[in-house]
Amino acid sequence: MRFGTPLQIKLVILGDGRVGKTSLALRYVHNVFSEKQMATIQASFLTKRLTVDGQVVSLCIWDTAGQERFHALGPIYYRDADAALLVYDLLDKDSFDRVQSWVRELKKMASKNIVLSIAGNKSDMAKSLHGNMQDAEMYAESIGATHFVTSAKLNAGIEETFMDIARRVMQQR
Ligand code: GDP
Ligand code: MG
Repeated sequence: MRFGTPLQIKLVILGDGRVGKTSLALRYVHNVFSEKQMATIQASFLTKRLTVDGQVVSLCIWDTAGQERFHALGPIYYRDADAALLVYDLLDKDSFDRVQSWVRELKKMASKNIVLSIAGNKSDMAKSLHGNMQDAEMYAESIGATHFVTSAKLNAGIEETFMDIARRVMQQR
């Protein structure tokens, strides 16, 4: 039993540029959203304290400062991560392919028991969540990940996504 300092969880957010990684983190931690390109608010590291099954934990969220655009995120970024949230844009098939390439990299380079979760973001823009959704869910299941549909704009699915990650990490401890 530890007192004082809460247990820490390191979560990295990965995905293509512009899919909404920073927006999800900012919505979750500060409950804000901006339509504009976020040049000034660079959320590279955010912390949120939450209670998981009665246990206080500190969720440390690592967001990129845009390096993903140059494919310049090395293993050092996620090597000691407890969890990764892989984000794609529901309207952008390429961004889903990018999630799959991230997963391959993580399976090779990250901790063996890293908790994986996939978020299909911008649900407010996706008119109907058609067949692709089933593919995404099946893919997530095949790699032991959970899959959520989110909107940073409308604050939909976000609490659930982060809570699920924290809970699954805690279950391993
Ligand atoms: P990042 O590059 O992955 O960090 O993406 P950003 O968080 O910077 O978001 C890129 C753009 O998408 C910004 O203009 C955001 O306002 C917008 N955006 C992010 N999340 C959502 C969402 O859920 N719905 C909509 N409609 N736009 C979003
Ligand atoms: Mg960003």
